[in-house]
Amino acid sequence: MKELITKKKFKELFEYIRNTEGDYLPLQFIQKSKNKKGTIELPIQNKVNIEQQQTFNLYNWQEAPTLRELHQAIKDCLKCKYGSTRNKFVFGVGNPNADILLIGEAPGADEDLKGEPFVGKAGQLLDKILAAIKLDRNTVYIANVVKCRPPGNKTPEESDYLTCLPYLLKQIELIKPKFILLLGAVALQALFGKSYKITQWRGKVIYYNDIAAIPTYHPAYLLRNPAAKKEVWEDVQLLQKMYLDYKQSLKDK
Ligand code: URA
Repeated sequence: MKELITKKKFKELFEYIRNTEGDYLPLQFIQKSKNKKGTIELPIQNKVNIEQQQTFNLYNWQEAPTLRELHQAIKDCLKCKYGSTRNKFVFGVGNPNADILLIGEAPGADEDLKGEPFVGKAGQLLDKILAAIKLDRNTVYIANVVKCRPPGNKTPEESDYLTCLPYLLKQIELIKPKFILLLGAVALQALFGKSYKITQWRGKVIYYNDIAAIPTYHPAYLLRNPAAKKEVWEDVQLLQKMYLDYKQSLKDK
């Protein structure tokens, strides 16, 4: 069975209803607009799909099935004080099916303007660290614990990041990485608790569910303390070895 609808009308109605009621396109709207010049055939089955199409927002973001839909759902979040002062919501970047997830702290000024994590000086250093272990930002996924810039680049306190943390946990659930590189104390403590000190845990493997997480120093710390690069080099070499072993184990299967 087929119904006819003009392309123009279809677009108008779809946009109107999406803006008012989400992505639902009730049947009666489609049936009213048939038999006009320039019509397209819309199989009933498609109409059902359109009706069933679901949008995700700040009330049901937990159910978002993909990173793209999660991003759409939460990008206008104002749940914490950083939402009202941000320029851009910094969701994350990279391969949505990455084996390796890098977690930073929060966007800085450059990230806030661009809407992408680690694009400033610390980000340039991070790119070099990744290149040293033959990775790049398209192969891995990069996200922060906090998605909006804390004014003055202040380190977010636990009370600040706890509101945003569920978004990161959902990103982890969707990406399903095999490895996580935790960049700095905030990323470490957000996933494992305040008692985990970066100086004590860096370079060690800790499991977050089944995911091997390796804490290391934050690239911004390295810019201030270049001597700590030696430790970070050891930590990322450990990550590289585990990753290559994992890939080899897949080949051996
Ligand atoms: N520092 C972070 O932790 N994240 C960024 O995106 C930029 C700087």
